[in-house]
Amino acid sequence: EINQMSIKFPSRSCNEAFARQAVAAFAAQLDPTIEEMNDIKTAVSEAVTNCIVHAYKERTGYITIQAKLFEGGEIQISVRDKGCGIPDVPRARQPMFTTGDAGRSGMGFTIMESFMDKLRVRSREGIGTQVVMTK
Ligand code: ATP
Ligand code: MG
Repeated sequence: EINQMSIKFPSRSCNEAFARQAVAAFAAQLDPTIEEMNDIKTAVSEAVTNCIVHAYKERTGYITIQAKLFEGGEIQISVRDKGCGIPDVPRARQPMFTTGDAGRSGMGFTIMESFMDKLRVRSREGIGTQVVMTK
């Protein structure tokens, strides 16, 4: 890679905007279009929100974001938690699947998938979850 950064912060909802802006500031080096920048911000926002509302539902824990820039203008963003984990990832990735309460539409993974070029989700129950997105 040609550049990278990492940040770690507690799963408080006020840090969702911080994380989104921090990744956007880093991604700005790529000279992205406004549309590309909005796609990245939206995807990061969905991933971080999932850590806050699902992974650390019962408590506060740390969220780690790593971003890497590659030659050719590719960006890879990893969002990791040490929360409850996802028992069935393929099922969780389906549109409209949610374990959340009434306000949740179950579209977070679908949005990440469509706004980024690639999405990988690794998770272990009781250990945590890592979402790796590339654009
Ligand atoms: P929305 O994102 O539309 O508000 P949602 O968060 O339920 O609703 P997704 O983001 O697609 O929808 O996530 C689907 C489901 O996957 C969640 O309901 C939750 O069960 C599980 N999930 C997602 N991310 C995590 C995570 N980091 N830790 C634990 N469970 C997760
Ligand atoms: Mg979600």
